[in-house]
Amino acid sequence: MRHVVLTAGFAAVTCVAWGQQPISVATPDPAIASALQNVSPQQIRATVEKLVTFNNRSTLSSMETDLKPGTGINAAADWIESEFKRISTECGGCLEVKRDEFTAPPLTGPNPRIVKPTKLTNVYAVLKGTDAAQASRRVLVTGHYESRNTDVMDTHGFAPGANDDASGTAVSIESARVLSKLKFPATIVFVAVAGEEQGLIGSRHLAQVAKEEGWQLEAVLNNDIVGGDTTPGETEQDKTAVRVFSEGIPATATAEQARALTNLGAENDSSSRELARSVAEISAAYFKPTTEHASKNTPVGQPRSHLVMQVPAFHPVLIFRRDRFQRGGDHTSFNAEGFTAIRITEWRENFDHQHNNVRTENGKQFGDLVPYVDFEYVANVARMNSAALATLASAPGAPREVHIGTGGLDNATDLSWTAPEGAPAGTSYEVVWRPTDQPDWTMVQPAGQATSIKLTTSKDNVVFGVRSVDGAGHRSPAVVPMPTTPMRTFTSGQPARK
Ligand SMILES: [Zn+2]
Repeated sequence: MRHVVLTAGFAAVTCVAWGQQPISVATPDPAIASALQNVSPQQIRATVEKLVTFNNRSTLSSMETDLKPGTGINAAADWIESEFKRISTECGGCLEVKRDEFTAPPLTGPNPRIVKPTKLTNVYAVLKGTDAAQASRRVLVTGHYESRNTDVMDTHGFAPGANDDASGTAVSIESARVLSKLKFPATIVFVAVAGEEQGLIGSRHLAQVAKEEGWQLEAVLNNDIVGGDTTPGETEQDKTAVRVFSEGIPATATAEQARALTNLGAENDSSSRELARSVAEISAAYFKPTTEHASKNTPVGQPRSHLVMQVPAFHPVLIFRRDRFQRGGDHTSFNAEGFTAIRITEWRENFDHQHNNVRTENGKQFGDLVPYVDFEYVANVARMNSAALATLASAPGAPREVHIGTGGLDNATDLSWTAPEGAPAGTSYEVVWRPTDQPDWTMVQPAGQATSIKLTTSKDNVVFGVRSVDGAGHRSPAVVPMPTTPMRTFTSGQPARK
């Protein structure tokens, strides 16, 4: 096996198809890069400010009859629908705009957050894939458009919800605006849900609809609180970082399946976690570190282009847990139905500016207000989402039936897989791996169009994954191979090998 060390940072890995090599940053797709340039902080600001004008977007406000016209969640839902339709008009009707409307029954248990039958409306827009063989594949971006203040049952008091979660809703709408100008083989769904604060009611319904209707949902990106809280005096906020949460053991795993995954050492490789890794890799291709150059005062004769420092680019930080302590989010609804879903949230939250009545106490401002949202930051989050959606909707689906041979004792590694459904001509595959104590893939071995490979690297020492690549270098998330022979659990007194 030849080892190749690449020195060029942005060389495409596909150019060296004959050996294993360290993973390098992929070459950006020019069409996607250009779409990301269209993401507009001003447009995002306009969306967030418009959502705030509905005064209170409480999910429960849908049932109130005494609200001022143009306020409450029903008016907000109508406006989001009109916004998707406006975007669709601009792309020649490329979006199918839909409402998922239902009546949620009262909840039971202590402090129920829905006490009477309540109308909920999720609004979404579908950008249908252009490849008939792949259009049933879907990737989805969502945020919750409802808001709350201190009292989660309050339907009348001001509840701006600028950060939580007009910011995430704006990411869905802005992603629709910039990506609807392009065409993708697979389908992208842009979503705004209600009922998050009432207990993930809206997203649960949509996830169940997706399951019942047989959506081939491959990725869900949930943006909740992505405003990059800007509070005077705050020193811990990081405007270059956004957190990406992903579950380890899937929520739907039975106790037996969870035991099998831990036996295998695959507890860190759920499809949601592979999606998170994929988002991080895609981001690295589009957010290149900027550089600063020697100052203008550089003495004559000294090179002015001398690199003096690197400014970190905007980047996701992978958090290997389902969500923050004591908190939940809409990705969980999709995880609960067995879908691949992650949560995206600003680096550091300010809890005075969430779930609070707008008020001043001892000179301190409370409330989820527009001035605490950084629209340049939300724009970067929207770019990261759009890059991920566009790349995944361009890439072939992930390989299926990915297996690792475990029939006999062997230091080598035999991997096999089958092509994803509807794989376009020219689809090839890559094997990626990492040492077991590393968080992300470190090595790659292109496999060409073969659907099996033998490697000398021992399966006992690393974690392997297999992913699909199209001719232009768009990659699917990796899939961790399952053993051809079930992993055995050994206990004292049993023979270690029959
Ligand atoms: Zn929220």
